Amino acid sequence: MRHITTAEMTTPEMSEAESLEVTKIYSISGFLSDGHALIKSRPFRAPHHNASLNALIGGGANAMPGEVSLAHNGVLFLDELAKFPNRTLDALRQPVEDKKVCISRVNGTHTFPSNFMFVTAMNPCPCGYFPGRKCTCTDYEIIKYRNRISGPIMDRIDIQKSVHPVNFFEASKGETKRRTSAELRAVVERARKIQQERYRNEEAVYCNAQMTTSLMQQYCGLDHASLELLKTTCEAFGYSARTIHKLLRLARTSADIDGVPEIRSIDIQKVLRLRDLDKSNSSLLVVKSARMQDQRECQVPVNCNQLMKKRDELHNKELLQTIEHSSRSFEEIMDFLTADDSQE
Ligand SMILES: [Zn+2]
Repeated sequence: MRHITTAEMTTPEMSEAESLEVTKIYSISGFLSDGHALIKSRPFRAPHHNASLNALIGGGANAMPGEVSLAHNGVLFLDELAKFPNRTLDALRQPVEDKKVCISRVNGTHTFPSNFMFVTAMNPCPCGYFPGRKCTCTDYEIIKYRNRISGPIMDRIDIQKSVHPVNFFEASKGETKRRTSAELRAVVERARKIQQERYRNEEAVYCNAQMTTSLMQQYCGLDHASLELLKTTCEAFGYSARTIHKLLRLARTSADIDGVPEIRSIDIQKVLRLRDLDKSNSSLLVVKSARMQDQRECQVPVNCNQLMKKRDELHNKELLQTIEHSSRSFEEIMDFLTADDSQE
């Protein structure tokens, strides 16, 4: 009996053309299981962070497809992203961007498709408990850990959400109505149908993620209030044009999920809440001073109540400026940060 995987239950059905593409890749890789002429469910690949560059991108003496191609038309899931070697993460940029991967060998160059949905997970900090009380990391350590994922890779990730620990007492009440995977799949299929209809005259565009700039001008018009909201947030977080395009595509999808023709202000508000990591990073504090020669910024204590309070009082940027221009010594900065104003 064939087992139905979770990916099969939750991902939208593949078209016949997509099925053929996936089957061809699995066939040349020798992964086509007995009795299966055609793969009908979207692949779900989750390679370990120890996987070699060749295994992930493709290669070897016979230039075989890698995980990025085995995940074509499906999902590539990388758990513990920060543990993947930098070389591997950098090599992912081309297949993510171009939706294909080129492997050159002595006997020729091979091109494999790699149009997958990139899903990844990582801890918020080295110890894994940030922003909870149990976290023992300093902001410096957290920033260093998060910087393992380079800007260009982060830029290519559309949705970044923090997942908070489950509150046992809330969850056991069982009051919250959760949508089942089958219900979610129906919602996704409905939204995709709208998109297929919208792009029926476009070449190689089937969903919002593939929208070109000119298509975005046509289908992602915003009213004045939404435009202002988007502009203010993008300026505050210094978003690149690539990120703004991603936000607009997501807003279009949000409107499609609700089946409405125009992007609403509520869609923009919704997508601006989908970049948790940017917001979390902007609240982190690394103290640097002109007189600090060594790397003592890593000694800034976190979980210190006074420091937290001070951070809440002042905007992070303002605080950094105050410190950076003051040329104070490390001890003076610590005194300034940990001073308890209420006792003055
Ligand atoms: Zn931590």
